[in-house]
Amino acid sequence: MNISVVGTGYVGLVTGVGLSEINHNVTCVDTNPQKVDLMSKGRSPIYEPGLEELMEKNIKLGRLRFTTEHKGAFNNSDVIYIAVGTPDNEDGTANLTYINQVIDVIANSITEDKIIVTKSTVPVGTNHLIMKKLNEKLPNHIKVEVVSNPEFLREGSAIEDIFHGDRIVIGADNQLASEIIREINKPYNIPIFETDIRSAEMIKYASNAFLATKISFINEIANICEKVEANVEEVALGMGMDSRVGNQFLRAGIGYGGSCFPKDTKALKKIAENVDYDFKLLSSVIEFNNRQQRKLLDQAINDFGTLKGKTVGILGVAFKPNTDDIREASSLVIIRDLIKMGAKVKVYDPVAIDNAKKELPIEVEYKNTALDAINNTDLVFILTEWDEFKSIPLECFTDSMLTPNVYDGRNCFDLENVKNSGINYCSIGRKYIK
Ligand code: NAD
Repeated sequence: MNISVVGTGYVGLVTGVGLSEINHNVTCVDTNPQKVDLMSKGRSPIYEPGLEELMEKNIKLGRLRFTTEHKGAFNNSDVIYIAVGTPDNEDGTANLTYINQVIDVIANSITEDKIIVTKSTVPVGTNHLIMKKLNEKLPNHIKVEVVSNPEFLREGSAIEDIFHGDRIVIGADNQLASEIIREINKPYNIPIFETDIRSAEMIKYASNAFLATKISFINEIANICEKVEANVEEVALGMGMDSRVGNQFLRAGIGYGGSCFPKDTKALKKIAENVDYDFKLLSSVIEFNNRQQRKLLDQAINDFGTLKGKTVGILGVAFKPNTDDIREASSLVIIRDLIKMGAKVKVYDPVAIDNAKKELPIEVEYKNTALDAINNTDLVFILTEWDEFKSIPLECFTDSMLTPNVYDGRNCFDLENVKNSGINYCSIGRKYIK
């Protein structure tokens, strides 16, 4: 099949590369010419393990190309995938500006019938609106069918997920369109769930809201564990052995972040509000997560009285390991607050520093190694569970910090090992070692 993918972010680029790897002829379109130049050379603008190798391979094989020219790409394709961003508006609703821009450009470009596949996460009803708008704008002899094909990949393991995901959801009203998208995806050999468009749109939001709720649930349990002297990691292991509970997404920490859970939970709350439904459970998940992101900072303020003038080391800015994505990361909340309080902040992350520099106040100092960020600090926050941090010898904290106060938001160290290390160690849902 000849396919174009519009938008080459975390989802679009991986989608395009995946489709080319299973033998489709793919043109990825992005409005950003620097990105397109880079990608045409086989270089990825995002950090995603395994991605560049597949880009290089499929470019060489002539199955993958990149362009800023929508029209040419669309007219050489049978199917157009939309994978542009749908960030949140101030009021929590999904911002469909990029989607609407793509609709306009499709309407002004295509000269024959096409199938449009929406990968972007969009509120229930959006795909029907896309279809209505396009069929209104297009000349009578051109028709489009729109298919909802929400994406479930996880940043950091996107390549693994695209080839070995749990399911592919195809939401369509038109049987033929659904069959064509099923055929396109067949070589992935992943279970395909075919449904109607609205249910497909809802599956995406419901899945993310459920996962955000599961994380928040274990985080609340962790907070109680601290007070009743239980250990959340033992609790999670015991809970996870029950197949009804499942052992994934039970790692307690300082809250979820990233480009999906925060915005998708807010958008689903709004979707419910729009039909006069008060989604109380999800509202408290959102509110609780905002508090959990500040939990360790509040603890440190409590311990020190004030953090004004203190030198603080930050290990990890990415919202999770193996990605350079820092959107809505808990680290941003903590670092911004520390700067506001008048602390001196030294930051290290293995891959997310370039993105951090674009987002964080200019007062932040960036370091090239974890040890540089720890050195001569009064306290350290560990905010991403990079393997690199888990293997830092504990003596590094005691030897190089002014006072070894470690606030570990990702439970990177074993409590038994920390016990006799001389570190004041505050983690999540476990005993505070002082
Ligand atoms: P992103 O912000 O990383 O990338 C969007 C890309 O679209 C950018 O490169 C931008 O330049 C490009 N773009 C914008 N307007 C364009 C246009 N008119 N023509 C061509 N390109 C255009 O976004 P993302 O993280 O890849 O997310 C994309 C969608 O997928 C969102 O709806 C998101 O909710 C959903 N999603 C994301 C993830 C994830 O882990 N990031 C997972 C599942 C679903």
